[in-house]
Amino acid sequence: MSKKVLVLAEAREGALRNVSYEAIAAGKQISNGGEVVSVLLGDSVKDLASELGKYGADRVITVEHPHLKQYTSDGYGQALLAVIEQEDPEAIVFGHTALGKDISPKIASKLQIGLVSDVTSIEGEGEAAVYIRPIYSGKAFEKVKVKDGIEFITIRPNNIAPLAKEASKVADVSSLSVDITNLRTIIKEVVRKSSEGVDLSEAKVVIAGGRGVKSEEGFAPLKELADVLGGAVGASRGACDADYCDYSLQIGQTGKVVTPDLYIAAGISGAIQHLAGMSNSKIIVAINKDPEANIFKVADYGIVGDLFEVIPLLTEEFKQLKV
Ligand code: FAD
Repeated sequence: MSKKVLVLAEAREGALRNVSYEAIAAGKQISNGGEVVSVLLGDSVKDLASELGKYGADRVITVEHPHLKQYTSDGYGQALLAVIEQEDPEAIVFGHTALGKDISPKIASKLQIGLVSDVTSIEGEGEAAVYIRPIYSGKAFEKVKVKDGIEFITIRPNNIAPLAKEASKVADVSSLSVDITNLRTIIKEVVRKSSEGVDLSEAKVVIAGGRGVKSEEGFAPLKELADVLGGAVGASRGACDADYCDYSLQIGQTGKVVTPDLYIAAGISGAIQHLAGMSNSKIIVAINKDPEANIFKVADYGIVGDLFEVIPLLTEEFKQLKV
C-alpha cells in the first residue's frame, strides 16, 4: 500500500541542508509510490522550494513567518502541527540533526505517536518498511517495525543517499499561513563562533585529532590535510578537554555524530564514547603510535606510527594526486 509522507526540509543561511534531500529519499522509500510532501519553514524560503522537487518531493508546502526566521521549538512546533493537521500524513521524516532532535519528541508527544529516532537505513517499502538504528553507542543495531499509527522517524545525516537530481522535475509548491503566537522565547540575535571551511556534521572527509596531537599547534598538520581533501577537522573529547581545540569539534557520544566517506583518526585511542560518534564512517583510517590501541579494532586501514610524520606524508601524496 502506498503512503503519504511528510518530510521536513532544513535550510541554514539561505541554503538547503543535504539532510533535506536524504529525508526525501527516505520518504520516497516509505511512500512506496505514494506522495512525498516536503515542508519548508522560515521567514523567506519560497525560493528554495523548487530545489526540493528536483530531488524527488512531489509537493512542497512553505510556511513563512517572521517568527520562523530563527528556530524555536514553539514556533516550529506550531507551524509543523498546522501542516500535519492539514495534510494528515501516514508517515513523517525529519533529519536527526540538532533541530530534528529537539522538535521531533515535542511533535510526537503532541500527536501521541511513537518516534523511531536516529535511523541509519530502511529495509523494505511502504507497509513493509523496517527501520534500522544503532543502539548501545553503536555496538549493535536494532530493527524496528511500526505496527500501527503514523510512522515518525528521524534519519541520521549522511547515511541514506539522496536521489539523483532531476533538473526538469517540478514540484507543486503551495504556502500555508499559520498564526505563530504565544512564543515563550524570541531569538533576537544569533552570534556564531567563527568557523571556516566545511561543516563537520556534513563533511565527506573528517580528519580527527586526539590527545596525541599534544597541543593547539599540533592540529595544524591535520587542518592542512583536511584542506587538501576538502574535509573538516574533528577531535576527541581528550583533545577538547586538554584545550587543544574547541568543544564544537568534539565527536562521540556527547559530541557530534559523523558518518563521512573517510574518517582519519590521528592520536585517538578509540574509547567507546568516541567510537559512538564515528564508527559508522564508510572508511576509517587510524594513525596511532600504539599498535594495541583500540581504534585499530574499528579501522579499515591502520598506520602504526607518529602522526607528525605520517600526516605530512599523506598531505604531500594527496597534493601530488590532485595536481
Ligand atoms: P587518549 O585516550 O589519551 O589517547 C591518545 C592516543 O594518542 C593514544 O592511543 C596514544 O597512543 C596516541 N598517541 C600519542 N602520541 C601520538 C603520536 N605522536 N602519534 C600517533 N599517536 C599518538 N570521548 C570522545 O572522544 N567523545 C565523546 O563524546 C566522549 N564522551 C564521553 C562521555 C562520558 C560520559 C565519558 C565518561 C567519557 C567520554 N569521552 C568521550 C571520553 C573518552 O572516554 C576518552 O577519555 C577520550 O575519547 C580519550 O581521548 P583520546 O583518544 O584523544 O585520548
